[in-house]
Formats: sequence, structure tokens, C-alpha cells
Amino acid sequence: MEKLLMTPGPTNVPEEIRKKMAEDVIHHRMADYKKLFSDVSEDLKHFFKTKQEVLTLTCSGTGVMEAAVVNLFSKKEKVLVINTGNFGQRFVEITTTYDLNVIDLKYDWGSTYKLKDVKEIILANPDLKGILMTHSETSTGVLNDIQSIGDLTKDTDILLVVDSISGMVVNPLEFDDWSLDCVIAGSQKGFLLPPGLAFVALSEKAKKAMERSNLPKFYFDLKKYIKFLKEKQQNPYTPAITLVVGLKCACDLLLEEGLDSIQLKHTKLRIYLGEELIKLGFEYFVKDENARGNTLVAVTHKEIEDMDNFRGIIDKNGISLAGGQGNYSGKLLRIGCLGKITKIDIDRTIEEIKKQLDVASR
Ligand SMILES: *Cc1c(COP(=O)(O)O)cnc(C)c1O
Repeated sequence: MEKLLMTPGPTNVPEEIRKKMAEDVIHHRMADYKKLFSDVSEDLKHFFKTKQEVLTLTCSGTGVMEAAVVNLFSKKEKVLVINTGNFGQRFVEITTTYDLNVIDLKYDWGSTYKLKDVKEIILANPDLKGILMTHSETSTGVLNDIQSIGDLTKDTDILLVVDSISGMVVNPLEFDDWSLDCVIAGSQKGFLLPPGLAFVALSEKAKKAMERSNLPKFYFDLKKYIKFLKEKQQNPYTPAITLVVGLKCACDLLLEEGLDSIQLKHTKLRIYLGEELIKLGFEYFVKDENARGNTLVAVTHKEIEDMDNFRGIIDKNGISLAGGQGNYSGKLLRIGCLGKITKIDIDRTIEEIKKQLDVASR
């Protein structure tokens, strides 16, 4: 039986896509690649819900987080990070590394942010240049409300940067309608692909800020990516060609199924998974049910002392589950509910967890 990745990235890749990626490598400066790249760049707009171009970078998600920061801001500028977990914390670390003036609005893990706090900070800081936030906080299972922050930044000079790396595809997101300025995504989460590609969309407001930005950058200078996409339908440097080939296949599969029905399917799947886990004595890590997203289910269990040991045994039996990050290392079980996961996969996972709980209680 194939190894089942029930992790919130990477996720299992459908056989069709793997076969496509096993074909001969094409050359990234030739006509066939240009056609492929301009097609996938159009397809990606449907996931972001935007008329803006979507750029494709060869890097993992953290690379495109860094790209967003170095392209949009300038030395010493003041930014707010809405920090609801490990990936919010990563934005704090990247912006601090580039010596921005960072307001770290930190919440307990498992909670979403409070709109009132963000409004207060905006009012108290007329020199605020950006708000960086996580859509789906993969370390906790929280889905942060993006739209309400877009309403606050819309008619201001504040840029809204959203990490939707694990959020996109399985959770709703509207780049244009929600007035977002920069949204980033990654191949190994909702896109049915292995790690290695990252995507970014930029608003007109963001593109103006890019012209002014004076932070150092070379490989990630997004102005070059826009120019190459528009003028040559290519990437400035050698892209992960094989993954771009896979991306076309993935976009075809996902867009054929339709984003609305994919999101409805994953809502049902993660509710089902959560309810089955509760029956086995687990508790939701995210207490507010309205703050839970479709990407993953995060749970704790009073009787499991070492969650990492517990999932290590399950991993040996062919199912990979994720654990807690940061201070929650060994304390959380995080089960991915995105990508090509089906009810059959969830049932197989629940069966295995039940088996190990029985062993542990004997
Ligand atoms: C996976 C992920 C990232 C990026 O992690 P990489 O390991 O660099 O791909 C960033 N933000 C979120 C919310 C993620 O889930």
C-alpha cells in the first residue's frame, strides 16, 4: 500500500501528475515551455481570484515569504505582523532580519486575532506601511479572517500581505474583491504537487511600493519576474521545469472539479475527521469552531503523553501525521485534510489511530 501523507504539506501527489512529471525534460527558453508557462500563469489567476498576473518562483514557501518582504518594503519602515502561530512568527523573524520596525501582535496558539486590536494599532500608527498575516495558520489549524483586514487597509497606504501557502485551494480567498495587496501560495499544500514552486500575486498598490523598495534582493527581485512573464512568457532563471509541467496537470484537474466544490468537499472531510477524533477522546486545539479551517485538524489527547512517539508508531505503519511545532512539540497531533485526501484515507487513518490507542491502553 502506498505511504499515506496525512500531513498539512507535503501531500500525496496523484499518479497522473507523477507520470506527467516523469516525462522528458523540456527546455525553459523554447516555444513549448513558453506556451506551458503562459497557460499555467493564466490558470493560477483562478485560484487567487484576480486579474493581476501571478508569478511562479522556484523555492519553498519561506522563500516567497522573504520575497514579499524584500520587494514591498524599505529600510526601517513600520509593519504590523498579526502573529497567531509558527508561521506568523516566521513573518516576525523575516521582517526583523531585514531591520524593519516590527509590531508583533501576538496571540495564544489556537486562537485567531481580534479585529479591535488591529484597528487600534492602525489608529495609533499613522506611519504603518504594511500588515502581514497568515491565512491558514498551519501550526494550529486556525483560519484567520482576511477580508475584514482588507476592508481596513483598502483605502489607505498600508499594504496587506497574506500568507495563504496552506490556505489556498481548500479555503475561500478573493484577491481582487477583498482588496488584498500581496498573496503567496506554495505547491506542496493545496496544489497536489511536491514542494518546490511558490506563487505570488501583487496589486497595483503593491507594484507601486515595489518601485520604491530599497531592501536588498537579487534572485527574488519580483520586477524581473513580471518583466519576463509579460515580455517572454518565461522565468528570469531556470525554473523547476518538471514541477511547472506537473502544475499544468494539477490546475487542469483542480479547475475541472471547480474551487467551490473542492472547498465544500474539504469542509465536509475535515468536519468528519474532527468528529471521528473526538469519538476517540481527542480534543480540538482550536476551541472556537468558527476559527477552524479546512486545511488541517489539530487535536490534543489527555492520555497520550508523547504525541511524537505516538505518531512515530503510526508512521511505521505507513501513515504520516504531523506533530506540534514550537512550544507544542510533542503535544499536538495535526492531520492534513487538503490535497487529494478522500474519506477512505481518513477512515484508514482513524482505524490506525484507534488501533494504537487500544495498544496503549492495554
Ligand atoms: C508550509 C507553510 C509555509 C512555508 O514553509 P516551507 O517549508 O518553506 O514551504 C509558510 N506558511 C505557511 C502557513 C505554511 O503552511
